[in-house]
Amino acid sequence: MSASRALYQLQTIDLSIRKHRKRLQAIRAELGEDETVADARQRFESASADLKSWQVRARDIDLEIKRVAEKANTTDEELYAGRITNPKELQDLEQESASLKRRQAQLEENLLEAMMESETRLAEVAELQQILDDAESKWTNEQSDLVDEKKQIEAEISGLQGKREQVVAKLDSDSLTLYDQMSVAKRGRAIAVLQDGSCSVCGVEQNTVIAQQVRQDKATVYCVNCGRILVIV
Ligand SMILES: [Zn+2]
Repeated sequence: MSASRALYQLQTIDLSIRKHRKRLQAIRAELGEDETVADARQRFESASADLKSWQVRARDIDLEIKRVAEKANTTDEELYAGRITNPKELQDLEQESASLKRRQAQLEENLLEAMMESETRLAEVAELQQILDDAESKWTNEQSDLVDEKKQIEAEISGLQGKREQVVAKLDSDSLTLYDQMSVAKRGRAIAVLQDGSCSVCGVEQNTVIAQQVRQDKATVYCVNCGRILVIV
């Protein structure tokens, strides 16, 4: 096999390794982050905190209602027990009783509101909990798929590196230096294939002399346009 064709093999392996490494990089990035889960958890926690504050509010109002009701009862008892006869005192007690009852009615309205808000939020929290659970299990599955894919790619890269060593062993150092330099200049594609008389990378048709030399596969032949090494495969 000519050096050019061996270099083409090398390039094919290198491009494949590069593609696999790129995917590995993407996998590593994906393994490190879970925006969807974090977002779902944030929404769930915020809704839970909101629910809790409404529940606490409802409980506080309920306690306050009990206190007010008790006070209203005591006031009424005193009012109707007949122990107080002073009209001014009786009037004050009546006013206090009425005021306590208004306060109780207001608190009961507030309690109803707090209970309704709690109920709405309870449903919301349940829904967000479901969304979070789904996101987490999807994430876990994806993670294990990614971990599997990562292992597979690592094995493939290792296999390709073995093949690469075999190809490199067949090449002389001048060819390898040429390949390394041209690979950098041509972004990993130093070698092009002569396809139907044209360069497979730049697409320019080669003259008959060039095409003939490539077919003979004896010397290094370059594309007349892009300067890549041409091979027949
Ligand atoms: Zn070309």
